[in-house]
Amino acid sequence: MATAQLDPAALGELSAGFRGELIQPGQPTYDERRQVWNGSIDRHPAVIARCGGNDDVIAAIRFARQTGVPLAVRGGGHSFPGSSVCDGGIVVDMSTQTEVKVDPEKRTATAQAGTLLGQFDTATQAHGLAVPAGIVTHTGLAGLTLGGGIGWLMRKFGLTIDQLLSVELVTAEGEVVRASEGENADLFWGVRGGGGNFGVVTEFEFSLNPLGPQVLAGPIFWLIEESPKVLRFYRDWIAEAPDELMTIVMHRKAPPLDFVPQELHGKLIVGVVSCYAGPIEEGERVLKPLREFGSPVLDLCAPKPYLEHQSMLDPAFPHGRWYYMRACDVAELTDEVIDITVDHAMRIRSPLTTFPIWQMGGAVARVPDDATAFTSRGAGHTFNLTSMTEGPEGFEEERQWTRDFWSALEPHQMGVYVNFLMEEGEDRVREAYGAATYDRLKALKQKYDPENLFRLNQNVRPG
Ligand SMILES: Cc1cc2nc3c(=O)[nH]c(=O)nc-3n(C[C@H](O)[C@H](O)[C@H](O)COP(=O)(O)OP(=O)(O)OC[C@H]3O[C@@H](n4cnc5c(N)ncnc54)[C@H](O)[C@@H]3O)c2cc1C
Repeated sequence: MATAQLDPAALGELSAGFRGELIQPGQPTYDERRQVWNGSIDRHPAVIARCGGNDDVIAAIRFARQTGVPLAVRGGGHSFPGSSVCDGGIVVDMSTQTEVKVDPEKRTATAQAGTLLGQFDTATQAHGLAVPAGIVTHTGLAGLTLGGGIGWLMRKFGLTIDQLLSVELVTAEGEVVRASEGENADLFWGVRGGGGNFGVVTEFEFSLNPLGPQVLAGPIFWLIEESPKVLRFYRDWIAEAPDELMTIVMHRKAPPLDFVPQELHGKLIVGVVSCYAGPIEEGERVLKPLREFGSPVLDLCAPKPYLEHQSMLDPAFPHGRWYYMRACDVAELTDEVIDITVDHAMRIRSPLTTFPIWQMGGAVARVPDDATAFTSRGAGHTFNLTSMTEGPEGFEEERQWTRDFWSALEPHQMGVYVNFLMEEGEDRVREAYGAATYDRLKALKQKYDPENLFRLNQNVRPG
């Protein structure tokens, strides 16, 4: 049905000279290619344009404008609400564009828009270098960077966008432009946090930092009964932490994995996952008080290659499960916030659900708020209230758990990271950016995309 709506002349024009692959309903790979990471998303685009270069991106944009069909842009396909796939429209799929070039002398790297975090980290770590990025290697570098990019190295080196030197982008007019501090500086400000609102980014250029390759990293777990004490201790302990230390608190039911003692399987536990981006001995000293607190039931924090640590959480967030997520920032882990957290952690039903609480601050907070379009720099912690099930069974109940938890935290919320939004409406996008940044993004949108061609995202309407 979707194909019947497409203008054959426009489709013919798109196909002529298209270097990549055009996939339509009925073709053998269609169902595989329309899937995104979140298995609860089931959309049927009219055409998936797996772009082979800038000319293909330009042709796909022209096609969307000629036909008026919706246009989605896909990097790694990890948008929580599935905004990189649409019904009845065209997907500008960048996933075959994965070339990474590292210049170890200059300490810079370029990455094409389909690059996944694991591919990027592997290329940079080959030279003992790294860009701070996310915590799951199968996430797309493109979507993550355009929203800001938080991860294990951010407190030491800043957000992913704080290391961004330039982008190459195809505009709604089909023009290829570069943006950096020295060229189209307004656009460069906007792509650092403003998401995919301004065009299709085809290449990112970053500066690199020396790292590892060994880091002291991994989780330490306690039984959930200890969580109220552990979280209070944790709060005081991180208050003195150096920027090298980044931590994430996680509650979940212990999975039945080989390295988890059998008596823990299925029991609710709390874990503090650390990554120390500095000398191992220094990290050992910093982490000692945490390791000695209470009665840990499992301590997997050890020196290891950064790449190994980066992939640790991959199996916890695989493709195809049903995911629902609400998120928020809080200033501090007050007693009330801790009590709400533990109370809701106790109510987790699904054996798969786990919700990260990220420690923010450090280098992230030292960049002025108006330097980029990212607006969570002042947050103390970011909550990712992620519920997950294998499929539809139990999904509704688990989703309700997320909603209840989020509502209970409402009085303590101070914002939200735009890459952690679901489809929550225009007001919430405005709230995420804050009035000043949102108005600036709106003016930029009016300049670069006045017809709102790029609207399947955390949309900033032209105005
Ligand atoms: C398992 C998992 C782990 C995560 N971990 C982290 C983390 O550690 N840190 C963090 O900051 N975030 C994290 N996120 C959130 C993540 O940053 C966003 O979901 C992000 O959108 C993913 O990027 P993607 O390219 O994979 O997504 P996609 O679904 O492909 O794209 C999402 C949106 O980004 C835009 N976009 C993508 N590519 C382009 C492009 N080339 N040009 C213009 N716009 C584009 C589009 O608007 C698109 O709708 C995680 C998400 C998941 C699912």
